[in-house]
Amino acid sequence: MSRTVYLNGEYLPESEAKVSIFDRGFLFADGVYEVTSVLGGKLLDFDGHATRLARSLNELEMTNPITKEDLLEVHRELVRRNGIDDGLIYLQITRGAADRDFAYPVEGTPATIVLFTQAKTGLADNPLAKTGIKVIGIEDLRWGRRDIKTVQLLYPSMGKMMAKAAGVHDAWMIEDGHITEGTSNNAYIVTDGKIVTRHLGHEILHGITRAAVLRFARESQMEVEERAFTVDEVKAADEAFITSASMFVMPVVEFDGIAIGTGAVGPVATRLREIYIEESRNSAV
Ligand code: PMP
Repeated sequence: MSRTVYLNGEYLPESEAKVSIFDRGFLFADGVYEVTSVLGGKLLDFDGHATRLARSLNELEMTNPITKEDLLEVHRELVRRNGIDDGLIYLQITRGAADRDFAYPVEGTPATIVLFTQAKTGLADNPLAKTGIKVIGIEDLRWGRRDIKTVQLLYPSMGKMMAKAAGVHDAWMIEDGHITEGTSNNAYIVTDGKIVTRHLGHEILHGITRAAVLRFARESQMEVEERAFTVDEVKAADEAFITSASMFVMPVVEFDGIAIGTGAVGPVATRLREIYIEESRNSAV
């Protein structure tokens, strides 16, 4: 079935939505994006995604072409028009089309804004949550402003392929002996009863799911430490997990072929996943 997508103010059949070959998203990866989950036809943490979008645009001196209210309406209209029950909404904003030049185009060049849906039946019932996923460690070769959610995803894409070639699900990236994050998720270990995840900074994306999960963890009296952790700490941890808008909380049971803890899904990740899904459903819009 052909989807209805959104492009620059219009709802169009996906085959009719066309973007210029001069678009700076295409030529320079000069664009930012967000992915928002839909459960039961409602948006999870829309506010968090809209706020981070505004921040990414601001960091790149791009004008935000849409208000938060209109953005919410477009998300809801796409859910409605495409009959999405469980799934994802992808949003991308680029600096627009202009003759190729490294310098930003003149002020007033219209941004390109695109949104489309991806149906994912049973998004919250991912069978991997029962078994956990396996990851490998790879060098973090990305640029230095990973806190800006840009569309330059080639290295994360290469990381996913390295994981696939190694017969595992994903890769955690390493810089100076410390884990930064997963290719498309934030990384955590549980050690001595504490949840440890890298502190915020330019080195990682400030995950919307991360913020929610750490809040729920603290509200549930779990101890949280936001600091860099080493590869050796991962190998010696009791548990590990990742968070992202589409995976929620997903246990990690193996790192570079070494079982983490018992090698089975642990109680902290399981509990946090339950809380996150329940609370997110309750506050979905
Ligand atoms: N880190 C990276 C590098 C990511 O690409 C993502 C997901 N886009 C995340 C973390 C998780 O962010 P969120 O919880 O907002 O999906």
